[in-house]
Amino acid sequence: MDTPQEKPHAGPRPAALLGPVEIRQLAEELDITPTKKLGQNFVHDPNTVRRIVSAAAATDGDDVIEVGPGLGSLTLALLDTVRSVTAVEIDPRLAERLPRTVADRAPDHADRLNLLRQDALTVLPADLRAAGAPEPTALVANLPYNVSVPVLLHLLAEFPTITRVLVMVQAEVADRLAAAPGSKIYGVPSVKAAFYGTVRRAGSIGKNVFWPAPKIDSGLVRIDRFPGGEEPWPIDARTRAAVFPLVDAAFAQRRKTLRAALSGHYGSGAAAEDALRAAHIDPGLRGEKLGVADFVRLAGVVR
Ligand code: SAM
Repeated sequence: MDTPQEKPHAGPRPAALLGPVEIRQLAEELDITPTKKLGQNFVHDPNTVRRIVSAAAATDGDDVIEVGPGLGSLTLALLDTVRSVTAVEIDPRLAERLPRTVADRAPDHADRLNLLRQDALTVLPADLRAAGAPEPTALVANLPYNVSVPVLLHLLAEFPTITRVLVMVQAEVADRLAAAPGSKIYGVPSVKAAFYGTVRRAGSIGKNVFWPAPKIDSGLVRIDRFPGGEEPWPIDARTRAAVFPLVDAAFAQRRKTLRAALSGHYGSGAAAEDALRAAHIDPGLRGEKLGVADFVRLAGVVR
């Protein structure tokens, strides 16, 4: 267990990370019974949060947005390393307690914390500006499991300044996000995440680092947004609006051929077939065979 350093220290003192005892104490003090509805599984293992910060390749040039800081486990580890953390927490009790936890356990970095008490699904750049928080360069979070994919896709869409993502999600969701075309688990989240950059699994996390322990293992996912100027297609709202409905339609009936699955989108099977052929895609294939580049081509987006 990490404890605050007492001796005089040349540089800023490192944060005192939260172990099982501190997590229980904080939860008791706040009278918190973790809820499944809000995906409240708190990490009580300092090594795990250090591992997340390291897998995120976070540096002192990063302004991180963290969704669901909870009792502050990951927040404290991030504050040691990055320039700022903007924490977005929906649970008022947790949001209210966080600044005090940071002041107590990371006093030399407390000024690096910005806090928004808000649903991450609704957070927009204007909310950060209003809170005096900088534009985020990275998203690092142990995401609430019930909304992990929508939150991830929402933040990637709304915050183009996020160049790196490291999120902890359920293991099967991590697999799905990082899946390649043709695999059984490849689907809408895989294509939509790959729209923004390269997506890969960045490790596995067991159940016992959490309190309460979830029923399933977790996985880390890293996304590196395509570098500016090197995007294979425009990463903007207009392109997204053209591409994502095709992805949704192709996977809504994933056992059907693309000709059939996209007939509603194009008005008829014949029109779908024409569009597919024009994009050099075999209309007899299923959606699960198409990479995001194929969907972009089908949408008629040309760089
Ligand atoms: N980061 C902490 C940790 O690693 O111990 C807590 C992670 S816990 C899996 C998820 C956190 O997200 C909880 O604190 C929960 O209250 C919060 N949360 C759930 N839904 C949310 C939402 N829609 N927006 C923001 N925070 C949310």
